[in-house]
Amino acid sequence: MNLLTETGSTDNFIPDDHPRSESLRIRHKLVEGFEKGLVAKAGLIAHGRGEAFDYLLGEKTIESAEKAIQASVAQMLLCKHPVISVNGNVAALVAEEIVGLSEAVSAPLEVNLFYRSRERELAIQEALLEAGAKQVLGVDLDHRTLLPGISHQRRYVDDRGIANADIVLVMLEDGDRTIALRAANKFVVAIDLNPLSRTALAGSFTIVDNLIRSIPLMTKMADKLKGKDVVELQQIIDTYSHQRTLEDALRVMGQSYKQVAPMLDSIIVAIKDKQKK
Ligand code: ATP
Ligand code: MG
Repeated sequence: MNLLTETGSTDNFIPDDHPRSESLRIRHKLVEGFEKGLVAKAGLIAHGRGEAFDYLLGEKTIESAEKAIQASVAQMLLCKHPVISVNGNVAALVAEEIVGLSEAVSAPLEVNLFYRSRERELAIQEALLEAGAKQVLGVDLDHRTLLPGISHQRRYVDDRGIANADIVLVMLEDGDRTIALRAANKFVVAIDLNPLSRTALAGSFTIVDNLIRSIPLMTKMADKLKGKDVVELQQIIDTYSHQRTLEDALRVMGQSYKQVAPMLDSIIVAIKDKQKK
C-alpha cells in the first residue's frame, strides 16, 4: 500500500521539515494525476528520470536556464503561431500555470500524447478547462492531421495547432517527435531536465530545468518582455547559444561532487544528534 495515499492527504503525511518534502509533494500530485486518468504509467517513470537530474542541479533554476527562458520567451513572442504541447504529466503538475503561460504568450494548448487513449485525452482536456483554459486543441477528431516522419501515435496533430505552428513548446517530449518537428521547419523550445536527451539536443532552444519552476518563470518573463520592441527581442535571441546552455547545465551537475564533503559532515551531525536523544 502506498503510504502517501493511505493518509488521504499529503499534508498530514509529509512533514515540512523533511528534506525532500517538496519533491514528495510533487510525486504525490503525479500519483493523484495517475489515479484521475491523466498520467500514463510510463509518465511516472519519466518523472523519476527527471528527478535524478534535478537532484544534481540542486533543485533550482540555474543561471543558464534563466537565459534560456528569456531567449525562448522572446522567440515565442516574435513568432506568429506559437503552440504549447501538453501531456499528462504537465496537466497533473502545472494545469493552472500552463493556462497562465498560454495566455501570456497567446499560444493555444494542444494535447499531445505518447500513450494516446481517448479517455486520457478527454481527461487532460477536462483538467485544462477546469484550470481556466478557454480552448484545448488536439482532441477534436475532425481537426486531426498527421505530422510527417513519425510512425507511432504521436504523429497526430491538430490542423489549427501544431500542424500550422511556427514555434512549439514541448516538455517530457520524445526525441523522435522533436526531430520530426524540427524537420517540419518548426522552432522547438524544449523544457528537459536531461541535457543529454535527444529532445534537449534537438530542441532549437532548451531550458534545462524542472517544468514546475520554469513554467511560472516563463509567464513572468513574457509579461516583462511584452513591452520590448522587435529589435531588442531579436538581440536577446541572436546573442543566445543553445550549445552553451546544454554545456553549462552539465558543468553545474558535474560540480555537485563538491557537495559531498559538507553533506557527509551534516549527516554525521544528524547521526550524533539522534544518538543523544
Ligand atoms: P528522448 O526521447 O528525448 O531521448 P528519453 O527517452 O531519455 O528522452 P523520456 O522518458 O522519453 O526520456 O522523456 C522524459 C524526459 O523528461 C527525460 O529527459 C526527463 O529528464 C524529463 N523530465 C521528467 N520530468 C521532468 C520535469 N518535471 N521537468 C522537466 N523535465 C522532466
Ligand atoms: Mg524517449
